[in-house]
Amino acid sequence: MKPCPECGSKNIYRYKEPVDAMGGYGPDLLPKLAPGFLKSAKLLPVVCIDCGYIRLYAAKETRYNLEDSKHWEQV
Ligand SMILES: [Zn+2]
Repeated sequence: MKPCPECGSKNIYRYKEPVDAMGGYGPDLLPKLAPGFLKSAKLLPVVCIDCGYIRLYAAKETRYNLEDSKHWEQV
């Protein structure tokens, strides 16, 4: 894991398991990338202890779907 892009700290923590990218009421952060019906795309939250900066990474299993998705385009 790279140091915090905000403050340069290496005191970085990542949640151990991927979490759903869409909660009950929040926005879908990774739309159209769910691996199947009733499943959610997953992301990994990473938090800097020193400044609180939060990074979100699409989980590997979710990134696999990007290239084949007709809803996402390479930029
Ligand atoms: Zn930081």
